[in-house]
Amino acid sequence: MESEYRYKTLYAIAKKLTSSLAPEEVLNTIVQSISKAIGVKGCSLMLLTPDKKQLIHTISYGLSESYLRKGPVMSDAVISEVLIVNPVVIQETTQDQRIQYKEQAVREGIAAMLSVPLMPDGEVVGVMRVYTSEQRRFSPEEIEFLGSVANLGAIALRKARLHEALGRHLEERSVELSKLEEDKASFLRFLGIAAHDLKAPLTAIQGFLWVMLGGFAGELTDKQRNMLQRSSRRIDELLNLISDLLDIPRIESGQIVQEIEDVSLYQIVKCSCDDLRHQAKEKGVVLEVELPQNLPEIPGSIPRLQQVMTNLVSNAISYTPEGVVTVSVTEEDNDIKVEVRDTGIGIPPEDLARIFDDFFRASNVEIRGTGLGLSITRRIVEAHEGSICVESPCLESNTGSKFTVTLPKKRETLNGGASNESGNKS
Ligand code: ADP
Repeated sequence: MESEYRYKTLYAIAKKLTSSLAPEEVLNTIVQSISKAIGVKGCSLMLLTPDKKQLIHTISYGLSESYLRKGPVMSDAVISEVLIVNPVVIQETTQDQRIQYKEQAVREGIAAMLSVPLMPDGEVVGVMRVYTSEQRRFSPEEIEFLGSVANLGAIALRKARLHEALGRHLEERSVELSKLEEDKASFLRFLGIAAHDLKAPLTAIQGFLWVMLGGFAGELTDKQRNMLQRSSRRIDELLNLISDLLDIPRIESGQIVQEIEDVSLYQIVKCSCDDLRHQAKEKGVVLEVELPQNLPEIPGSIPRLQQVMTNLVSNAISYTPEGVVTVSVTEEDNDIKVEVRDTGIGIPPEDLARIFDDFFRASNVEIRGTGLGLSITRRIVEAHEGSICVESPCLESNTGSKFTVTLPKKRETLNGGASNESGNKS
């Protein structure tokens, strides 16, 4: 065998090894190219069983099915020899005591064998064996060449193991993930039921408090009125929390998609801002609205987009002791952008990353709240295939905060949204 040809073969195997993602492909290339390169009958990669007692033909070339299935190959003699002699040449298969299946070897036409160890991590995991159909001597160059190929084989095996380990790891993670998804779904179901069951008695208590505060259950002293008013406010807070808690499972279960139709953002923004004008005025906050009339309709849920606007604008008013809140809407190529800017207390930089998390409230707030408004807002915006982000301080004024909601003019997914060209119009 020409040395140039050997190098070419080694190069071809190494190239395959670095480019191929499938280690079996490399191992197949190895057994085939060796057989051709040194002109032998066949080649086989045999791997040790986990108990290291047997060798199994794993990948082979040039050997018949019946030979491959001749029976278990006991590892003792071969492995101890490859470890000591490294590599092992068997010149006379019919005579050699180390050959377990002499008859089958004769039937297969095997006259001699050469075995080299496969050691991916310094430990023998199997052998690479070539089979010849006539008696022949292996030159030192050929033996060295086989040793080099066996090293490449060992790298391919290591890669195969990593592949396998990675595959197992991915499988385990995906099982964990679906378990988490299941846990989350059952937690949300529980949350929905608990919140629903709490709401009814609280609403009834609130009703009785109003009856008493209205004077329909007898005269109240100032002290009693004050206590009942405080109770009523606390119940209001609880009812708000419950309605937020009820919202999460509803949104997460994809309810919004059912509600999507072509909507006018102009009407939604105008309506929400009109509702909050009184609250702004009471706080001494100026509410400015920059709203073009000719906005195109977009796919959306009217009550949910109103909830987004109300959350953002009422937060801006609440967290602005005095100053200006500006709502501006602009049309872009594929989206509509809604900005809510304020000149209020702003959000500390260390809290910005968690501001859309459930129950998160920044360290600089004093007024009461649930910490759920923004996380619900984010869920609603994302269910509309839009995005929301925050900036604080707001770059334009170097104070307060700016929340930006971007809503697409057309939905990517087919379900929901009459504006979707390929969607449910037909
Ligand atoms: P809540 O207002 O009930 O606490 P949100 O989820 O609406 O809950 O808001 C979460 C937190 O984000 C608030 O507690 C506050 O710390 C911060 N935040 C939201 N909007 C603003 C704003 N415009 N200016 C300053 N902080 C804000």
